[in-house]
Amino acid sequence: MAKKGEIKCPKCGSLVRVMVQATLCTDGKYYANFTKRNLRYKESYLNSVNWETADFLCVNKKCRHVTNGLGNYVSRLEKELAKLKLQTSERKTHVQKGR
Ligand SMILES: [Zn+2]
Repeated sequence: MAKKGEIKCPKCGSLVRVMVQATLCTDGKYYANFTKRNLRYKESYLNSVNWETADFLCVNKKCRHVTNGLGNYVSRLEKELAKLKLQTSERKTHVQKGR
């Protein structure tokens, strides 16, 4: 049973797994050579997690719906820009057809 505040799939109401980008702080010696084992060393620690862009994956095998992140002002602007670009290209197509 879901706990209070737990995120559920918007399609079927099942629980979700979260895929989230995390920022790790570690020694320079691990640059471009980081392994899961290095996570155990005290010089490696989790610095932050970007919840705004997290994806929520439904655990129900019959559903498997993916909800894209909650979003922030950057991701909202990116989506708006993509929508405007699409509208602009559609208008160009109409103008060309109209000739
Ligand atoms: Zn679902």
